[in-house]
Amino acid sequence: MGQTQRYRMRTRGDREVIRVAEPGTTYVDREGGDEFEVVGAVLPMAPSPSDLPWAVENLRLCGCSLEQLVPKDLNDCMHCGRRLPAIEP
Ligand SMILES: [Zn+2]
Repeated sequence: MGQTQRYRMRTRGDREVIRVAEPGTTYVDREGGDEFEVVGAVLPMAPSPSDLPWAVENLRLCGCSLEQLVPKDLNDCMHCGRRLPAIEP
């Protein structure tokens, strides 16, 4: 379950990572020694039933009349509650 919030972070050297972060904690790049700066939160915001970042490759249409995008790791649509069909390989 997505109970932890992930953030997109960047160093001065433009190295970018997506990782779980706690507010008030400083994160340093192990390789360059630069401090990471939070540049954005990754959707879905915690807590969310999905662990996947909100990205096109992780989403599909639920198929109901609401035509909402649903993360692929869910079994049920989080908008209408409908059971989602199995993903074609
Ligand atoms: Zn739906």
